[in-house]
Amino acid sequence: MRFTVLTLFPEMFEGPLSSSLLGKAVAKGAIEVELVDPRDWAEGRHRQVDDAPYGGGEGMVMKPEPMVAAIEHVRQKSQPDRVILMSPQGRRFDRDVAMELAACEQGITLVCGRYEGFDERIRSFVDDELCIGDYVLSGGEPGAWVVIDAVARLLPGVLGNPASLEQESFEGGLLEYPQYTRPAEFRGRKVPEVLLSGDHARIAQWRREQSIQRTRERRPDLLAAAPASERTGTGGQA
Ligand code: SAH
Repeated sequence: MRFTVLTLFPEMFEGPLSSSLLGKAVAKGAIEVELVDPRDWAEGRHRQVDDAPYGGGEGMVMKPEPMVAAIEHVRQKSQPDRVILMSPQGRRFDRDVAMELAACEQGITLVCGRYEGFDERIRSFVDDELCIGDYVLSGGEPGAWVVIDAVARLLPGVLGNPASLEQESFEGGLLEYPQYTRPAEFRGRKVPEVLLSGDHARIAQWRREQSIQRTRERRPDLLAAAPASERTGTGGQA
């Protein structure tokens, strides 16, 4: 899958794109990330990309000309990208949106704001707006990284064991069950006996119950939205 990130700070992506799972996904060619700096389209000696807001107020606003020129540049492809603005005013990015993007046949361009945000007119040149959570970041870059990471791990060939996707939190509207590894006892805390039993049916049943209980305790909102079969753990017979 092809991502393009429009950012005034391309160097911020060096670490994330070269380490761990994303680093491997890039090395294997499962994802490709192009970094485009809108400052390349800024005019004047100072290559200015921001300016004071009309009407007064704090901070600076990203000027439309360089950003829109950069967006038009990334749209000049045989198959134009889906262009997404990173914005606290966008639709909430969650597992379902990550799945939707992973299935998208177009390349994805993520536009990162800085300062106090975008000149409003930039909005009419994008296809979508995404918000990664209800807080304000200093720029869209950490958001773009979050989106690329969450989408990449859904793509074929990125996770070492694709089956692990099926058990993860948010699958079927539930959080994941508790996980343990060696040692069997750590500072007096024992691994639940059932996990040492070797009885796969009992283990599966225990995990399912734990998933439901944990979701009920921590995220009742997810449980309310989950299909009835998931809520009761009856595998579709409820
Ligand atoms: N003044 C703006 C916020 C600007 S923050 C407002 O109140 O709406 C600067 C930039 O950071 C934004 O343009 C956006 O690209 C990015 N950003 C901030 N919070 C974000 C969030 N929760 N999700 C996605 N992008 C965010």
